[in-house]
Amino acid sequence: MPPEHLMMIDLKALGSIRLECNKCHAAFSFRVAEKVEIPLQCFACKERFTGEAVMAMKNLLDAFAAWAQAHDPTFTLRFEMSPMMHAAPPRPPSKP
Ligand SMILES: [Zn+2]
Repeated sequence: MPPEHLMMIDLKALGSIRLECNKCHAAFSFRVAEKVEIPLQCFACKERFTGEAVMAMKNLLDAFAAWAQAHDPTFTLRFEMSPMMHAAPPRPPSKP
């Protein structure tokens, strides 16, 4: 069985969140520690982003900004990334 690795990221270690337009794949990066204006449309192709998803992203970034300012010595908050499976590379055939 290949080894599994549980990756965790401290929320305060996050630099930015990337929003990618599904139509043209242009990308925006938002620093998580700052309050930002969320775009309502893609800057490149002008595809409109839906209101519900834009509001959810704004709430998420606001929560990250609040967390970046919070100081509580009693606990730590981390993201747990999905376990990654690392299969060993195939071995070359052995020579007799
Ligand atoms: Zn676009």
